Amino acid sequence: MTLHAPYDPANIFGKILRGEMPSVKVFEDEVALAFMDVFPQGEGHTLVIPKFLGARNFLDLPEAEVGGYMLRVQKVARAVEAGLKPDGLRVFQFNGSAAGQTVFHLHFHILPMWDGVKPGAHAGGGMKSAAELEPLAARIRAGL
Ligand code: AMP
Repeated sequence: MTLHAPYDPANIFGKILRGEMPSVKVFEDEVALAFMDVFPQGEGHTLVIPKFLGARNFLDLPEAEVGGYMLRVQKVARAVEAGLKPDGLRVFQFNGSAAGQTVFHLHFHILPMWDGVKPGAHAGGGMKSAAELEPLAARIRAGL
């Protein structure tokens, strides 16, 4: 039953926020951090996390934090579109392990999609290196 368990600051995204783990960043301000998914379901798969500590999932996020965070999710989604020019774009997130969540710090996925290209398995693809992800991140940053 992971939907309302206590927030564990040792989760991997908490470590990325504290600079204890590397990430290929595309956007950062006082509210949110966006970086490339290292097991991408497709080219340009990007994650947007709130800097607010304590929300394992969307249901946990205090109402006062929602508006600012969602503005950043949209900002990064627009940058992904501008930088990578996909035919479509999925914006999604999971709440609880029963729903498929595997990292328990709130995050939205932004997955660009191209006609005829099926997305890979969730959190199940091969790991990409920073060198492979950086050129995509650069194009997304240019779209901000
Ligand atoms: P979820 O299953 O919705 O919690 O999504 C977690 C996402 O984080 C998956 O898409 C993973 O591929 C991704 N992921 C796991 N570890 C890392 C990491 N160290 N850096 C970037 N993305 C990660």
